[in-house]
Amino acid sequence: MQNPAIHGIMECRVYDEKCSRKAMTIMANKGSRKRKTNKRRLEERQGSERRALFWLVLAVCALAGGLFLMQASRYLRGFADLYKGNIYPLIVRTLGRAWGKVPFSAVEVLLYLFICFWIVFLLVSVTSLFQRKKGAFKRLGLRLLALAATCSVLFFVYEANCGVNYQATSFSEQAGLTRSGYDAESLQKVCADLTQELIALSGQVERDKNGELAEAEEWKQEAVQAMTALGEQYPQLAADYPQPKPVFISRILSVQSVTGVYSPFTVEANYNTEMASYNIPFTMCHELSHLCGYMREDEANFIGWLACRQSDNIAFQYSSAMLGWINCGNELAQYDMQAYSELAAMLPEEVRKELNINNAFWEKYEGKASQVHEQVNDAYLKANGQTEGIRTYERMVELIVSYYQAKAN
Ligand SMILES: [Zn+2]
Repeated sequence: MQNPAIHGIMECRVYDEKCSRKAMTIMANKGSRKRKTNKRRLEERQGSERRALFWLVLAVCALAGGLFLMQASRYLRGFADLYKGNIYPLIVRTLGRAWGKVPFSAVEVLLYLFICFWIVFLLVSVTSLFQRKKGAFKRLGLRLLALAATCSVLFFVYEANCGVNYQATSFSEQAGLTRSGYDAESLQKVCADLTQELIALSGQVERDKNGELAEAEEWKQEAVQAMTALGEQYPQLAADYPQPKPVFISRILSVQSVTGVYSPFTVEANYNTEMASYNIPFTMCHELSHLCGYMREDEANFIGWLACRQSDNIAFQYSSAMLGWINCGNELAQYDMQAYSELAAMLPEEVRKELNINNAFWEKYEGKASQVHEQVNDAYLKANGQTEGIRTYERMVELIVSYYQAKAN
């Protein structure tokens, strides 16, 4: 029989050894887990540091690039023309062509996605802050850095695809169009010619059941053809034009009293589908002229007017005649109301009906949003060298009068 005490001690020793091995295993496991956790934490920290560095470098580079383009185009003589003539056409040929393959307005979809993304991002960030989740502040900082980098990239793309072109030589200078000004008599003569043209075209166009110019799917291709044809006459306008695209939720433009918009981010010409249809061909060509790098609004109006006027498509000619008459007529009304009223009375009933439809449409959207957009656009145009702000659009009249005078001589 064995001494129980000794046996007990032995058992105890065995037990202690077991315990000790177990404790060592646990400690080893704990140590291993701790090392793994530390390693993971270290990797996570290094990962977030790398991401922060990436966003920071991207933000700084894009901002510096955008600022360089902005300042160089303003203060380096000839830079904007050189850029517009050599670099910008490459952007239209690559980026413009790529986005042009998308059958809908890419910028519209990207805008909605962008807004949704940042709403979700802010909600998630604020929620994790309130829940006091570990590392929430760090993650928020990283996301804000990503937001700043995105804004910097957008600023760079805007400058590269649009901002520089504001400083380039204007179309009228390049094409040798004179801006000799006009008096009431010459304006009245142009308005009288436009009235006759409008009367002639009004009887030839197809109308829908509301009496408006009948819309056609091929207008998008017609706009490209009209601008391409004008490019043969004015080589400055020769470009690889993508088709203009309708804005799916055009109400967004209507409430701001906007007929169309050029997107520098996707090099797309977009137009409002809700407005009176006679505006559409003119607007398509106006926006395509921005895509060609001509940013002055009076010149874009004039180019749009001329492209539609010289188009083979009768609806485009009608659109040109309507917009020409409206702009020149409004100007004439300020000089000589009597002469304006006499010409307006000569317009066919169908034309006056369309003008009323147009006026009623825009009156519906007169309000805060359209006022704010008008003020923002006015400030934006002035900041980009168009000193008359939104009144620049009306200065197409000067170019139309010069065009008629040149034609007469
Ligand atoms: Zn414009």
